[in-house]
Amino acid sequence: MSLVNYRKRRRFQVTPEPRGRRPRPRRSSLRYVIQKHRATALHYDFRLEWKGVMLSWAVPKGPSLDPSVKRMAMPTEDHPIEYNTFEGVIPEGEYGGGTVMVWDRGTWTPETEDVDDGLKKGELKFRLDGEKLHGSWVLVRTRRPGEKRPAWLLIKHRDEAASRRDIADEEPRSVVSRRLLVEIARDEGGNMEKAADGDPPALLRRMLESPELVMPASRRRKKSVWHSDREPTRAKKPAPIRARKKAPREARGA
Ligand code: MN
Repeated sequence: MSLVNYRKRRRFQVTPEPRGRRPRPRRSSLRYVIQKHRATALHYDFRLEWKGVMLSWAVPKGPSLDPSVKRMAMPTEDHPIEYNTFEGVIPEGEYGGGTVMVWDRGTWTPETEDVDDGLKKGELKFRLDGEKLHGSWVLVRTRRPGEKRPAWLLIKHRDEAASRRDIADEEPRSVVSRRLLVEIARDEGGNMEKAADGDPPALLRRMLESPELVMPASRRRKKSVWHSDREPTRAKKPAPIRARKKAPREARGA
């Protein structure tokens, strides 16, 4: 559990993502967050708080409520807990460049007795109490022959929260700002076309017909959304140096 890999991959003078403080385990309930991330490809970053960091897996198709569906989950580097509120745009060309949405959040409870042992052995059972996801789940490691990195599978257990409905498609908005990816990109100076590619096409088509469905572009709506205090990072070429001549007054007013 360390943020060394997290920090190695990022340039904090360029990306608005948080650097993260020293990992500090807490006693109270454990948090989880799922961030929908339109980077090189769309995926859902599934993060569980453990020992002061967020253990992380990238789930390309997102979670499924259907217990017969196994969703691939590739382990990624531990993230700082401050990352949980990050919603915004990572500059293109940087690690993970693209639009990030807080898709779900809540608390999790281990159902595996010894979490460290479960992680080592490759099977972690837990409950989620979130805004979108609930009930019992399992993350299980699989090692397919010939594959370098072991993949994990995220699977819903059979319980009252199991369902056939497609939650990724039916609930595509941010739990903190109600925005779609395209609206986050619009508000934070990202690539709207690329971001929209991660939103449900049918909903985008309805929005074109009924513009009142579009979230108004208001800046800095929620304090819970983590923002950089820097200016947007695009178009930051230094101003060309030339001798400044004062324009004649009448020319300026025109
Ligand atoms: Mn990601």
